Amino acid sequence: MLALLVLVTLALASAHHSGEHFEGEKVFRVFVEDENHINLLHALASTNQIDFWKPDSVTQIKPHSTVDFRVEAEDISTVEDFLEQNELQYEVLISNLRSILEAQFDSQVRATGHSYEKYNNWETIEAWTQQVASENPDLISRSAIGTTFEGRTMYLLKVGKPGPNKPAIFMDCGFHAREWISPAFCQWFVREAVRTYGREIHMTEFLEKLDFYVLPVVNIDGYVYTWTKNRMWRKTRSTYDGTKCIGTDPNRNFDAGWCKLGASRNPCDETYCGPAAESEKETKALANFIRNNLSSIKAYLTIHSYSQMMLYPYSYDYKLTEDNVELNALAKATVKELATLHGTKYTYGPGATTIYPAAGGSDDWAYDQGIKYSFTFELRDKGRYGFALPESKIRPTCEETMLAIKHIANYVLEHPY
Ligand SMILES: [Zn+2]
Repeated sequence: MLALLVLVTLALASAHHSGEHFEGEKVFRVFVEDENHINLLHALASTNQIDFWKPDSVTQIKPHSTVDFRVEAEDISTVEDFLEQNELQYEVLISNLRSILEAQFDSQVRATGHSYEKYNNWETIEAWTQQVASENPDLISRSAIGTTFEGRTMYLLKVGKPGPNKPAIFMDCGFHAREWISPAFCQWFVREAVRTYGREIHMTEFLEKLDFYVLPVVNIDGYVYTWTKNRMWRKTRSTYDGTKCIGTDPNRNFDAGWCKLGASRNPCDETYCGPAAESEKETKALANFIRNNLSSIKAYLTIHSYSQMMLYPYSYDYKLTEDNVELNALAKATVKELATLHGTKYTYGPGATTIYPAAGGSDDWAYDQGIKYSFTFELRDKGRYGFALPESKIRPTCEETMLAIKHIANYVLEHPY
């Protein structure tokens, strides 16, 4: 009887975290004007289960901004009453998260295995890294740069024609587990590289003169968890003594003003910086690889979602980098190029002022290592679907992002340092 009870409890617990979990859940957008509104949202967040989508936590809300957050079904009427009683302007971005999440899988591609126009689980991506490397031995080599907390291998693809002393661009995807469009882009980039090499003059030149290091998923454990237990998981899956809460925000875990601002020391928070800089095996492996290849890496690109932004250092401080004028001009030209395909508008600027201050990010760290062209991309969309971007948007999103990455690659070639 006890065993049966335990089984039932386990079944209920796992059901709670999978599909049904999001039944009736809503995503709200609140229009914040002043400090009074911010204080109201702090009060709301302290008494209700609120999952902040944009910004990443309640502490990062700024005046004259919008705030997107997810509310569990049982708290919705409380939250709506609160917003109305306090005359906060808001709209409902998603009225039932479960149906939006089901609608994610709207790809017309019927493939059962790997597809560039579908979201692939880690098992499929892992097999793909092996296959794409073995099918293109003259252009791609695969290596392992480390293992995750749960013991998965972190594969890195080196894409380019082998040659001596080539400059390199490092690009990673999948820092935050729920940002599924991000790993989809890294896969798309590799496919486009091998598909257009020898057929399109720019890509051909890039691969002959540059190497691209592509890390398809940084936070593999978290990504697996979004497929198996909780689609809205963000952090790593590491555990530490003294807390029951799981996971560290990998993009608050780098040694760049670590945990000074825009990050939390509370392990239960979504922006937990970890017990120390590079405490996470995943961030440590990434940082070690970059440190060991600093002489060749000329650009660092990290792909996130959502909000359509192109950010450059600093985020850990309001100070500007000594390359601010150049980075600003490059970002401006890059987002202009991106918009030529589908008209998608990006904003751009230094992280701290353009979105919010956040210490411990990989772009700031890479810049301070001496990698001048260091950018964070926040891909589509602006909140209509948020993290639940449908598969039918993978193609247009990746196509336009390709233009941006190629623009940067061309710039890196023309501006050696
Ligand atoms: Zn992210």
